[in-house]
Amino acid sequence: MRKEMLRKMMCFLVVSVFLLAASGLAQAVEVKAHFFNGGILKTQTQYMLKDTRIGTPMDIPIPFILIQHGKDWVAFDTGNNAQVAVDPMPYWTKNIVEAYTPVMKPDQEFKIQIKKLGLKPSDLKAVFLSHGHLDHAGAIDNFAGTDVPLYFQKAEMDTIRPILAAKKAGTAYILGDFARINELNIKEITGVYDVFGDKTVIVFPTPGHTPGHMSLFVKSSKGTFIYCADAMYTIENMDKMIGPGLAWDIPQSLISLGWFKLESMQGGVKIIPSHDPVYWDKKGFSEKKVFVPGERNRR
Ligand SMILES: [Zn+2]
Repeated sequence: MRKEMLRKMMCFLVVSVFLLAASGLAQAVEVKAHFFNGGILKTQTQYMLKDTRIGTPMDIPIPFILIQHGKDWVAFDTGNNAQVAVDPMPYWTKNIVEAYTPVMKPDQEFKIQIKKLGLKPSDLKAVFLSHGHLDHAGAIDNFAGTDVPLYFQKAEMDTIRPILAAKKAGTAYILGDFARINELNIKEITGVYDVFGDKTVIVFPTPGHTPGHMSLFVKSSKGTFIYCADAMYTIENMDKMIGPGLAWDIPQSLISLGWFKLESMQGGVKIIPSHDPVYWDKKGFSEKKVFVPGERNRR
């Protein structure tokens, strides 16, 4: 009888310790990611996948992400500037618009879309920019006059500042996107940055597309993912190890692609591309539909 009681007590103890350990493993803070569709760019396949299906049209979506960490919100990328929905030609210049023709509605601008989450730009704790290109940092002017820190890798700002100083138009860094730079709270980081200090949201350098490109790691309550941004345009780039058609440094881009591929082979971490029409179409992105958080996207 005593033995039986002892056995039951031991069982109870083991279960309690297990539950305690499990609750300790559970995230203390809820982390959620919301993906938004900032419009599309009409381009050609060889610009995304080097020497592949040359001349074949490719409509690429422009995602940006809002991340909720407990009561705090941060953004990763911002999509295009509002001017792109009005008249892209003078704003982006002819050469850019011909290579990447934007299709964007006014309500696809960052500050309008985040209203769906009940947010305005000044509510955000921080914004992280994968890089300074037009379809990623286009709406940073939404933060002009706010204290919200906008984080770039130092190597990226070191690339952007001389272009702005020389007023050099016609690159994928649009002068108008940075026109209000003096009203922005730009912060420079170098290397890996743990956003909340609890390893749930981490940005890390993936140079290649640009000198200061960075990608995003998120351990959300629903699962762990890496949003590669332009370090991996499409799943095909990774699967077949095809470099981007255009990049600051294609060999460096391939290093990141190889690393994403290795990660994806290990399982457990979802690898998310930036401009993959097939991937985002499955997620409900399309020209007509913008992402509605918390709702299964019906088409
Ligand atoms: Zn891009």
